[in-house]
Amino acid sequence: MSVKTLPTYGFLFLMLTLFVSCIGTSSQTAKRDVTRPPFAADSAYAHIATQLSFGPRIPGSDAHADCVDFIVQKMTAYGASVDVEQGYMTDYAGEKQQVRNIVARFGDLNAKHRLLLCTHYDSRPWSDQDDEAYRYVGVPAANDGASGVGVFLEIARQLQLKPSAKNIDMVFFDCEDMGTPAFIDNNDRPDTWCLGSQLWAQKQERKGLYDWGILLDMVGAPGATFYKEYYSVQQASNYVDLIWSNAASLGYDKIFSSKPGAPILDDHIYVHKGLGIPCVDIIHTLPQGGFPAWWHTQEDNMMQVDRATLQAVGEVVMSVL
Ligand SMILES: [Zn+2]
Repeated sequence: MSVKTLPTYGFLFLMLTLFVSCIGTSSQTAKRDVTRPPFAADSAYAHIATQLSFGPRIPGSDAHADCVDFIVQKMTAYGASVDVEQGYMTDYAGEKQQVRNIVARFGDLNAKHRLLLCTHYDSRPWSDQDDEAYRYVGVPAANDGASGVGVFLEIARQLQLKPSAKNIDMVFFDCEDMGTPAFIDNNDRPDTWCLGSQLWAQKQERKGLYDWGILLDMVGAPGATFYKEYYSVQQASNYVDLIWSNAASLGYDKIFSSKPGAPILDDHIYVHKGLGIPCVDIIHTLPQGGFPAWWHTQEDNMMQVDRATLQAVGEVVMSVL
């Protein structure tokens, strides 16, 4: 360092001090009287990046197999009892589709009144909302696949550090996004989507095991807003109220909007239909319904992941554990 640069450093130091003071004051104001549940968005973000490094997790691909190994290895390391449940469902084209759901269980494995935390981990094989050239290219699925997994892996780490009084099962559904491609000119049947949760909910011995559930889908985008999804309110209004009021107490009332949301076909439908489990879908939609522009395109990549959104979702889910 030359003598000449010293005043510059002094000035920078002063500015930095002022800046830090400002941050200190504002965050103290925002965090006053609020006990925040522990959650590290950096960790969730890194887990999302790891999944994208495998490539699109299209069922049957190496990337998909790598992702199964990754989730199983992580959940086992965090102390869960893990099973990969394999079966077959019929896809949109009438073909047999292999399905691999990952079930990770925490706490007393024989206890009832469990809490279900679920999300899907597969990537859509077709970027059918993108340019025609990308029809047969898999979606990177940073939000629509990897984000829920990233949040739950971080929650699993937190549960290992401080176990919940609740007995919790995390279920990672496969083949949620295998629904009829938009470029196939036939009627899209709802049951071509959510193949993993349909298979999972066929196991009737699960009936009565869960009090309720939370489904995460597309929970990492910058500026995301979560409205009170229509079917969630129909089947689980008291749990919707619980989640949204916890969000408001944590200062996340802009992200978790109190406005009613559109009806969304998602895994929570089949969890409720097959086993009667009231399940709340926390999903990013536009105020007028529909999904953001990156949905089912190549743009659903790491550029569309924001730690602030992950932090909000992570804290809100942790607040009910
Ligand atoms: Zn999707």
